[in-house]
Amino acid sequence: MAAPEMFNLDGRVAVVTGGNGGIGRGIALGLAEAGAAVAVLARNQDKNEAVLGELRALNSASIALKLDVTDRDALAPAMSEVERKLGPVDILVNNAGIALPGGVLKVDAATWDRVIETNLNSGFLLSQIAARSMAPRKRGKIINIASEYSRFGNPIAPSYAASKGGLIQLTKSMAVELAAHNIQVNAIVPGWIESEMTAPIKGRPFYDDIIKRTPAGRFGTPKECAGAAVFLASHASDFVTGATIFVDGGYAIR
Ligand code: NDP
Repeated sequence: MAAPEMFNLDGRVAVVTGGNGGIGRGIALGLAEAGAAVAVLARNQDKNEAVLGELRALNSASIALKLDVTDRDALAPAMSEVERKLGPVDILVNNAGIALPGGVLKVDAATWDRVIETNLNSGFLLSQIAARSMAPRKRGKIINIASEYSRFGNPIAPSYAASKGGLIQLTKSMAVELAAHNIQVNAIVPGWIESEMTAPIKGRPFYDDIIKRTPAGRFGTPKECAGAAVFLASHASDFVTGATIFVDGGYAIR
């Protein structure tokens, strides 16, 4: 296969949760540029409409659906609607995520549950729905957006670290189980990326510490996460499964 051909996503249908902003938007646009029809699933309809305009400007037959990934009853109907409108799902990107502060001495159970439900449980439930559709077709790609805190302890947001650590173990477990169905399951660890989630850090000493620790000497952009996602969504990664790709300017290795 020629180089551009192995990354070509023409005719593929991709779902990106939280695809209306930040890293998810960067990935959604990258997948569309590679040829995929993209369904963005997120809560804020204004942001959904904005990204839909950008996707359609790329000639992608895309849709955006209002979905709260913590609403378990809404997950299967949303995936069915995607399949009705765009066709069977080939690529699922579990990107929707939140980080809520609260160390172990203070955090309440409701906060803990909300983070785990958003970042981990929805990834499992949506992957299950997608994999059941992909398995009979013997083709599929699942990409989970993890975090440096998948590996590091986080004293101010242990729920976030636990959810992202769990996502890596879920990635590996699904990779082993679903390999027989030609479904590859991988994770991306973005380093520190400019987005609404990281905006509050700007101007604080912690921001400078991150820059100093990152060999690339800067935060990354959502667009810079798209290349790894296109790779993991395409034929180019057909023998890659259970892997974690770090898109972090070297943060993890220092
Ligand atoms: P943003 O806050 O910019 O984006 C989060 C996205 O998730 C939004 O599109 C939001 O849409 C969506 N979302 C949140 N909760 C829900 C929900 N209950 N249902 C549906 N969608 C939801 O953050 P980032 O782009 O930075 O983060 C994206 C992912 O990348 C997250 O999983 C995050 O943990 C991870 N990550 C980010 C890093 C960074 O440095 N930025 C580093 C490592 C990982 P809406 O509010 O409309 O629902």
